[in-house]
Amino acid sequence: MTALDADVIVVGYGPVGQTVAALLARQGHRVAAYERFAEVYGLPRAIHFDDEIMRVWQALGIVDDIAGDLMPVDSYTWFGADGEQILAISSPSPGPAGWEPSYLFFQPYLEDALIRAVDALPTATIHRGWVAEGLAHADDHVALSLRRVDESQTGNLEPTDETTTVRARYVIGADGANSSVREAAGIAFEDLGFAERWLTLDLRPNDVEALSYIPAPCQWCDPARPHMHTRNGRLHRRFEFMLLPGESGEDFRDEARVWELLAPWMTPDDGRIVRHAVYEFRARLAETMRAGRALLAGDAAHTMPPFMGQGLCSGIRDAANLAWRLDLILRGLATDELLDSYTPERRAQNAWIVNFSAEMGRVSCVLDAAAAAERDAALRAAEAPPPVGLPPLEGGLIAAGAPLAGARAVQGTVRVAGREGRFDDIAGRGFVLLTRRPVALPESQTRFLDEIGAHVVALTELEDIDGRLTAWLDRHGADAVLVRPDFYVFGAVEALDGLPALVDDLRAQLPTTHDRIEAHVH
Ligand SMILES: Cc1cc2nc3c(=O)[nH]c(=O)nc-3n(C[C@H](O)[C@H](O)[C@H](O)COP(=O)(O)OP(=O)(O)OC[C@H]3O[C@@H](n4cnc5c(N)ncnc54)[C@H](O)[C@@H]3O)c2cc1C
Repeated sequence: MTALDADVIVVGYGPVGQTVAALLARQGHRVAAYERFAEVYGLPRAIHFDDEIMRVWQALGIVDDIAGDLMPVDSYTWFGADGEQILAISSPSPGPAGWEPSYLFFQPYLEDALIRAVDALPTATIHRGWVAEGLAHADDHVALSLRRVDESQTGNLEPTDETTTVRARYVIGADGANSSVREAAGIAFEDLGFAERWLTLDLRPNDVEALSYIPAPCQWCDPARPHMHTRNGRLHRRFEFMLLPGESGEDFRDEARVWELLAPWMTPDDGRIVRHAVYEFRARLAETMRAGRALLAGDAAHTMPPFMGQGLCSGIRDAANLAWRLDLILRGLATDELLDSYTPERRAQNAWIVNFSAEMGRVSCVLDAAAAAERDAALRAAEAPPPVGLPPLEGGLIAAGAPLAGARAVQGTVRVAGREGRFDDIAGRGFVLLTRRPVALPESQTRFLDEIGAHVVALTELEDIDGRLTAWLDRHGADAVLVRPDFYVFGAVEALDGLPALVDDLRAQLPTTHDRIEAHVH
């Protein structure tokens, strides 16, 4: 077998690359990440993530590191053409994952924390100043060719003659919307039909509370120029303005022009513009997220207008989904057929989110005054919308037809042997079998669960301090629930005597493990 440089190569060291590198290296796998730029990407982008994503940060141990700058929020307000409210979307607190439903954050602080988390892991190596150029598949590995780039001026890359080739069992393309891995793997990027240009800017106000009278986040659906505002973390504020027909990105290079747009709220005496950029918001989806040993995650696989604040969140879900599959494969507990369900699971959920985001954009980016007035009247007449619930997994590696299959698992606060905290920190991560009462499973099943590192936890063996876990099982009439390492439910059973069939179903969907355990038992 060819000597490999790593188990997994990650191309692109943005937030999704950082997260998947951390998740894999925490399991002891050798991860090599390659990034073209010397430093964290300097332009203004994500400002929001949800409770499900916070649970992933919890797993990476970075919550304390980022908590100081985070701002929890539970509502999102839209104003109509007349400046009055047309819509308020609120979410119950806490979210299912046991954290606030939404957080506002300053992306560079989050990335710094992720980078520190990866730096602390001995099996991860980060190589900056390399551009991935090509991919070649072999039977047992993939070879990635890279070119060294010079960056004498920040953000300005000059190719050099120095090239190298690195080999690993898998490569993850987390290299953003113009992914070289996607291109080298020959994967098409489908356009779902949305394209609007917006100016985006981050501000550091002298007095960050001075604009506290504006709800954050909020969207002004003003046909004269749709725009939005939010806090992004405790020290910064974000404004975004849609470009009108005939305007170009060049028109806003000059900060003086940007300050003209900000005039209703702030002047240069009130703070400074930290960074600004014009983006074209597009709705696109890769036709597949896997080609052999090449896998896509994050913006490499999907881009969306940011009206739901879910682009990065979707990428983190990709990372969490991919990490546990690769972990089982690299530990020899599953064949790489386990990757077959990565695309169906992630693409379907991503497609829903991309389409919903584009639809929110179509509703809010109306430039015709009469159409905007009609929209405002219709939204005001309508019932307040329920919280936007993201869809569950609808296929893939779940117990099809079982209660709760594909749903997000609830996290509560528990106490075990005097230790109190969130469930994952106290009971452990990985596969989790949560039952109402202790169960005696057949020996081969107990051994199978041991082998995949599952934690078997009975509610009677812990104190369900906030009652959330008991209430969750009650609500679904379930006696046991089997949760995957990415916090999605494999399936639940209404009575404990149905549990062996559920465990068998999981075992059947992880064929290598099944064969090994059967061989061991007979
Ligand atoms: C204005 C705006 C607001 C947004 N708001 C939100 C929000 O509130 N919430 C949310 O969830 N999402 C939001 N998003 C989306 C979010 O920013 C992206 O989804 C997220 O940054 C994608 O992360 P990523 O790691 O997949 O890609 P990127 O952040 O693009 O990182 C890719 C990395 O790969 C590197 N790279 C690229 N090509 C190569 C190569 N060939 N070789 C080596 N390295 C390479 C790049 O330099 C980069 O560092 C917003 C986006 C915009 C534009």
